[in-house]
Amino acid sequence: MARLIISADGPDKFAIWKEAFAKAAPDLTVCSWYAPETHLLPSDYVLVWKPEADHYAALAQAKAILCTGAGVDHLLQHPHFPVHVPLVRMGGEQTAHLMADYVTWAAIGLLRDARTWAIQQNQHQWVYNGIARTSAEIRIGVMGLGHLGAYVATHLARVGFQVAGWKRSAASVPNVQVYVGQEALPEFLATTDILVNLLPSTPQTRGLVTYDFLKNLPRGAGFINVGRGEHVVQADLLQALDTGLLCGAVLDVVTPEPLPEQSPLWGHPRVTVTPHVASEASAYKQAEYVAQAIEQLERGEKPALLCNPHTGY
Ligand code: NDP
Repeated sequence: MARLIISADGPDKFAIWKEAFAKAAPDLTVCSWYAPETHLLPSDYVLVWKPEADHYAALAQAKAILCTGAGVDHLLQHPHFPVHVPLVRMGGEQTAHLMADYVTWAAIGLLRDARTWAIQQNQHQWVYNGIARTSAEIRIGVMGLGHLGAYVATHLARVGFQVAGWKRSAASVPNVQVYVGQEALPEFLATTDILVNLLPSTPQTRGLVTYDFLKNLPRGAGFINVGRGEHVVQADLLQALDTGLLCGAVLDVVTPEPLPEQSPLWGHPRVTVTPHVASEASAYKQAEYVAQAIEQLERGEKPALLCNPHTGY
């Protein structure tokens, strides 16, 4: 019988996880990492988010590590992360659907300039700013067409946008034009009215979004960042917004998080900031996903979202 040791979210949240696993996977034994009687065995699985520095040595003993986040850059960048231990990223339908809902909201908000409505409401101003342009006229480009990106792109196509995506290796995604590799990037950007970042944070993608990069987009394009704050050079993003290169940005992820109180992003009239909330499935759905991944590992199978430590995602 598999055993899961939970360190994710600290000792206080263990009760929530325990209840979720009791409902989603009653056969799985779950223990708190922080309980004095818990001693990790080589047959144990561990569920983590951001482990404490002194957890890493013990993690090296685990059979596999499962992360409550889809992005595992913070783990892989830690000098003591045990890369030899299988690492499974968070996934599942609800995680992807939440992301698709968020990006749809952000894209429609950019399309209709909803940021101006929010500012005007704050100032009790009734100023007409109707925009006669529909989703069908807008080309959305999704950078990163993995578990989340492919789902989001398909969803946006169903909503009625014209959708393209950019990734490293060839693939086909229904109703989505796929651009592959560095050579295809200029054409992908040149035909994108709203750019969505859903890349993982890796040495190749950190700092990718600069002023020069954004210059490849049609003037007045929108930008949605739901990947990681590190993908974006923030001063360049502000320059792109202030010079009209971009019409607006919706940022769910920033650097650092939380965004410092004095950041110019907070009050920027073309920026909407949300506190890294785009996609976090319920504890029950995460427990269900984790239990399925453990079942696969127990059968000797590879879960779909097994991280490749060499590519970093
Ligand atoms: P996946 O690993 O499934 O997908 C990553 C995609 O990015 C793949 O299509 C991959 O291409 C592509 N990619 C990676 N590197 C490059 C590169 N150098 N050039 C072009 N394409 C590249 O990740 P997920 O979809 O599960 O998650 C994506 C990210 O979303 C996470 O890493 C995390 O940072 C972020 N996230 C944010 C959340 C939020 O609430 N804001 C919640 C969850 C995740 P290929 O398929 O060809 O290898």
